[in-house]
Amino acid sequence: MAEEVKNYDVIIIGAGPAGMTAATYASRAELKTVMVDQGIYGGQMNNTAEVENYPGYNKIMGPDLAEKMYASSTQFGAEYSFGAVSGIDVLENHDKVVHTDMGDLQAPAVILATGSEHTHLGVPGEEDYQGKGVSYCAVCDAAFFKGESVTVVGGGDSAVEEGLYLANIVKDVTIFVRGDQLKAQPILQERAKKQENIRFVFNTSVTAINGNGDEVQSVELKNNETGENSTFKTAGVFIYIGLKPNTAQFTQLGITDTNGWIKANQRMETAVPGLFAAGDVLVKDLRQITTAIGDGGLAGQEAYNYLAARQ
Ligand code: FAD
Ligand code: NAP
Repeated sequence: MAEEVKNYDVIIIGAGPAGMTAATYASRAELKTVMVDQGIYGGQMNNTAEVENYPGYNKIMGPDLAEKMYASSTQFGAEYSFGAVSGIDVLENHDKVVHTDMGDLQAPAVILATGSEHTHLGVPGEEDYQGKGVSYCAVCDAAFFKGESVTVVGGGDSAVEEGLYLANIVKDVTIFVRGDQLKAQPILQERAKKQENIRFVFNTSVTAINGNGDEVQSVELKNNETGENSTFKTAGVFIYIGLKPNTAQFTQLGITDTNGWIKANQRMETAVPGLFAAGDVLVKDLRQITTAIGDGGLAGQEAYNYLAARQ
């Protein structure tokens, strides 16, 4: 017997800040709303230590902000459903069937808020030592390295901010930057430069991660100016070299740019009627919690407008 399809007014894919805010707006407008996420609600906020650029809080831990947003997003009846979305079919009447590993969902309006994930370095040892010293989440893993020397790879906001978080817990932090300058916000750079147990090494790439099979012991380095190779002892490697969009399942809809980011107009509408997008998954210049929630609010409201116009 075919499995029953669950029907909604709005299906939101992704329960990060963008998806949760869209859910608040859609459900407060009395639309039958579900957020579906392949992990715990909160998205990248769960991997963020301290957030200090979110209005209303001088400083708040990312996972705590996620809890507060989840409470807001479900207060008007929006549901949260666990499931990995594998694709969307658009029917002739413009309804969308969302395929998940927990069954199919159907709605006239869908909001894509799937965000992005960490880029991998792609060097030997990286995959072998994941969970054994290679990490993409300081909040999750810093405590395993108390009293140890760790390295960070990258030069953007994530590398420097998470390097600062690590420095409060581990013995010392060496940040390898492939070029000759940081990309991170000046305020983060200043703080990191003042932190005694953080050291920056510029013009240097990590080319391999070595260990004894059970744990990381060192990294191989290449000096990008001189071409010189060397080995550096370390217990942990935290990789923060940028993000890539979570859109592989949606590219056949023709709504992404050449790098996979979703194109939407100021109303968060994609090229497919009734299909909206919000947050980091969009082509945009500033990927932040505040910009994600702005997009989410707009997408939730525009989904309401779309449904009202259809009636
Ligand atoms: P995300 O938070 O990425 O959420 C997307 C959700 O979609 C995830 O829960 C994911 O599980 C789900 N998903 C993806 N694909 C599928 C699928 N196929 N099926 C079902 N679910 C799916 N911003 C700030 O403003 N301040 C900060 O201090 C700050 N610090 C940061 C630190 C780090 C280390 C990082 C990486 C980012 C930081 N940011 C910060 C950026 C901020 O976290 C993001 O801009 C924000 O989380 C984007 O929200 P989003 O809802 O668009 O996407
Ligand atoms: P990012 O801004 O894209 O920076 C990536 C960094 O990694 C750059 O320094 C880049 O070097 C380097 N890099 C890229 N590929 C590399 C490789 N193969 N080897 C070594 N280094 C490599 O990424 P991000 O820092 O993860 O930030 C992602 C988004 O989240 C940004 O929009 C950021 O503003 C946001 N964020 C915000 C906060 C905050 O507001 N406090 C905190 C964290 C993140 P080059 O400069 O040489 O290209």
